[in-house]
Amino acid sequence: MRDGNRDGRPAARSGFPPPADLSHEEILRYSRHLLMPEVGLEGQRKLKAASVLVIGTGGLGSPVSMYLAAAGVGRIGLVDYDEVDFTNLQRQIVHGTSRLGDRKVASARDRLLDLNPAIQVDVYDEPFTSENARRIAEPYDVLVDGTDNFPTRYLVNDLAVLTHKPNVYGSIFRFEGQVSVFWADKGPCYRCLFPEPPPPGLVPSCAEGGVFGVLPGTIGTLQATETLKLILGIGEPLIGTLLLYDALAMTFDAVRLKKNPKCRVCSENPEVTELIDYEAFCGVPGHDREEDRLAREWEIEPKELAEKLARGDRIRLIDVREPHELEISRLEGAELMPLGSLAARMHELDSAEEIVLFCKMGSRSARAVELLAGAGFRKQKNLRGGINAWAREVDPRLPVY
Ligand SMILES: [Zn+2]
Repeated sequence: MRDGNRDGRPAARSGFPPPADLSHEEILRYSRHLLMPEVGLEGQRKLKAASVLVIGTGGLGSPVSMYLAAAGVGRIGLVDYDEVDFTNLQRQIVHGTSRLGDRKVASARDRLLDLNPAIQVDVYDEPFTSENARRIAEPYDVLVDGTDNFPTRYLVNDLAVLTHKPNVYGSIFRFEGQVSVFWADKGPCYRCLFPEPPPPGLVPSCAEGGVFGVLPGTIGTLQATETLKLILGIGEPLIGTLLLYDALAMTFDAVRLKKNPKCRVCSENPEVTELIDYEAFCGVPGHDREEDRLAREWEIEPKELAEKLARGDRIRLIDVREPHELEISRLEGAELMPLGSLAARMHELDSAEEIVLFCKMGSRSARAVELLAGAGFRKQKNLRGGINAWAREVDPRLPVY
């Protein structure tokens, strides 16, 4: 089956440049590849001629970019617009403690060039948006989706469909991950599988929900594997297959995917023929960060809350985090009502009293404020920035997490 996938369709390799020549040093560096007939000198020359755009230099982008660099992919583009943060290091292994506060693309580029100085690494220190995506992606043969949010995921998908490029997809949450290759010319796209984004707030981000640090290592390594197979034109790519991984059960399930004949972007008569406004489409911002999502009148600053409490105002403090988060930090006098139980426990609250709701960073409690507003409450406020902001601005004895 080396030359076809499960449907017997011709496999991967079309739309790639002609192979490039290797130096003696490169022949030595890649000798373990050259020994295998499936790669060999010809395959290594294909890898050198190939170019891959890795969108995101986080948990998935780390292993993807490092393995592609080590394998000798000749040109790697990196897109990110953030700084290396202390909480990244639990899983984003392309970055190191010595690079805290540096631009992520610069940190990743230096690591990749240390791993393999023979390759070219291009960096794009900017958010990936509908305005710049075509320009950034233009020189690359393959797109690798290492993003952490729905707007960028739909953007990468539509861009890949419109430009006829493969989109090597991966996503992670807590202990579970997914991998596929969406290549509309040869199979389904992401929108065939998920025509509509989930309702805003339904799927928590990794910053709110957490992620097992090794999980993106597994998923990102699978994405790198698929990318190399596509370039080499070997094996059975995950075109038309969604691979589901459960780290706790240690199981892989493969789900067959079909092209949706009514897909809005990859069907014969698509509605979407240009990149759209993906933040509006998904109803959420295209990044995974603390966000002021409520109007100011629904918010209270940590310092303002501290002053009110200090002068003895009667305020009901409601912690909408999960019970295990209390072991990390807690506010004196707060009652625990995890967001998921709030609707059922609303009768325990009195709409006549002042209520301040909080979570880790302010987005779960923002949803709690909206939930109460929907039930007619008017005196509830969201602690801006959550207990983490309280720890930074009011009580440094509490840890930030
Ligand atoms: Zn589609």
